[in-house]
Amino acid sequence: MTLEIDVLTLFPAMLEGPLSDSIPGRIRERGLARIQTHDLRRWGLGRHRSVDDATYGGGAGMILRPEPVAAALDELRRADSTVILLDPAGEPFRQARAHQLAELPHLILVCPRYEGVDERIRGLVDLEISIGDYVLTGGELAALVVIDALIRLLPGAIEAESVAEESFANGLLEYPQYTRPATFRGQGIPAVLTGGDHGAVRTWRLKESLRRTLLRRPDLLVERSFSPEEERLRDEVAQEEG
Ligand code: SAM
Repeated sequence: MTLEIDVLTLFPAMLEGPLSDSIPGRIRERGLARIQTHDLRRWGLGRHRSVDDATYGGGAGMILRPEPVAAALDELRRADSTVILLDPAGEPFRQARAHQLAELPHLILVCPRYEGVDERIRGLVDLEISIGDYVLTGGELAALVVIDALIRLLPGAIEAESVAEESFANGLLEYPQYTRPATFRGQGIPAVLTGGDHGAVRTWRLKESLRRTLLRRPDLLVERSFSPEEERLRDEVAQEEG
């Protein structure tokens, strides 16, 4: 199945480059995802294709008018579409949501600019997503983050093993990784990784995932349940780290 993504933006060129190179470009070439950008001005008002106006009540900046966005959604939305508004007040974007979106047939991403979009547009979308607690100049970079995170999860996009073992896949950060040379500026690599004992490597990786998560992102562990093996390794790490 091909995931179809339509992006509504005033700056289509901002998305084309990043979505044409490297892995996203190959995913598109192989037909796993169809991504199309649409210039919101196509649905702009009047001779000047106007899309924004001053804010009622006064204040700095312009607001995206609702009519162009609504008209674009009327044209692009299908029965199986999920419409997503990129917005700082949206749901914080997480890997679990990326997995869920990667299974849907059709996404429409709305990328406001200026001071944001007229409040009445929120009623026309299915989901609002924020990519973090900071403010960007527009929704395009946020849309790119969302698209990049989910298209790499499409079956066949990258090796299934990479997706299964990476950070957040099982609620933990990824374990440390090493490549050649075996000694770099006086630092070696953990002996277990060259010992040829696959079971020992697996246990070491799980333990180091738990260590890294405990030290850097303990918030991820709060609601996670642990297998008996994970519990044992987590207790060992907690003791080692004091
Ligand atoms: N006035 C808005 C506010 O205070 O929440 C900020 C508007 S921002 C300058 C313009 C647009 O950039 C937003 O409407 C949104 O589409 C996008 N944007 C900015 N920060 C974002 C974030 N953290 N996540 C997702 N989209 C963001």
